[in-house]
Parts: sequence; C-alpha cells; structure tokens
Amino acid sequence: MTDEHLNKINHDDDKFCRGCGRCMPCPAGIKISDCARMNLFLRSESRDEYLSEEWKAKMKRIENCLHCNLCKSRCPFRLDTPNILKNNYEDYKKFL
Ligand code: SF4
Ligand code: SF4
Repeated sequence: MTDEHLNKINHDDDKFCRGCGRCMPCPAGIKISDCARMNLFLRSESRDEYLSEEWKAKMKRIENCLHCNLCKSRCPFRLDTPNILKNNYEDYKKFL
C-alpha cells in the first residue's frame, strides 16, 4: 500500500480499526481486532451480546496493555492501536 493510498484512507476523522487482525497476536492476550471496534458493536443491533460477562472480561484485558506498541507497528493502516483500545475501553465502561 502506498503513502498516497494511506493518506486517502486515514483522514483525521477516519482513523478506525478495520478488524483485519494483522496486529495480533498481542502479548497481553487482548483480542485487538474486536476490542478496537467495540464502539461500533455497541451501536449495532447486537449490542447486548457485547455486554455479556465474556465480553466484559475480554475488554478488561485492555487494562493489562504493556504499551509495547507491537500492534501499532504491525497495523497496515498505521493506526495508534493502543490509544484506540484505550478509547474503546473508556467508551465501553460508560455502557455498563
Ligand atoms: S501495545 Fe498493548 S495492545 Fe498492543 S500489542 Fe502491546 S500489549 Fe497488546
Ligand atoms: S488495529 Fe490495524 S491491524 Fe489491528 S485489526 Fe485494526 S486495522 Fe487491523
């Protein structure tokens, strides 16, 4: 992917996770490709599914982020993945 393509994709207001999974595995066991899109899931018709105990536990793993930036270095869209996860977790806690 060229820089021109990335610039077209990554407008300032368009920096969202595409769920491709290229950033994983995460050494802290965070399911990044889902957790980084939780803001979208919570605003979909399947919202209740993502408020289950199973998903609460998955989202809580974000607290264990090592800030190693491995995910960020692997993301083909050059997202600030740890920050996206942090913001998604803050948003998630508001729904609980
Ligand atoms: S920065 Fe956090 S989320 Fe990203 S790979 Fe490292 S531990 Fe996992
Ligand atoms: S953070 Fe980047 S690499 Fe990871 S799932 Fe999202 S778009 Fe793909």
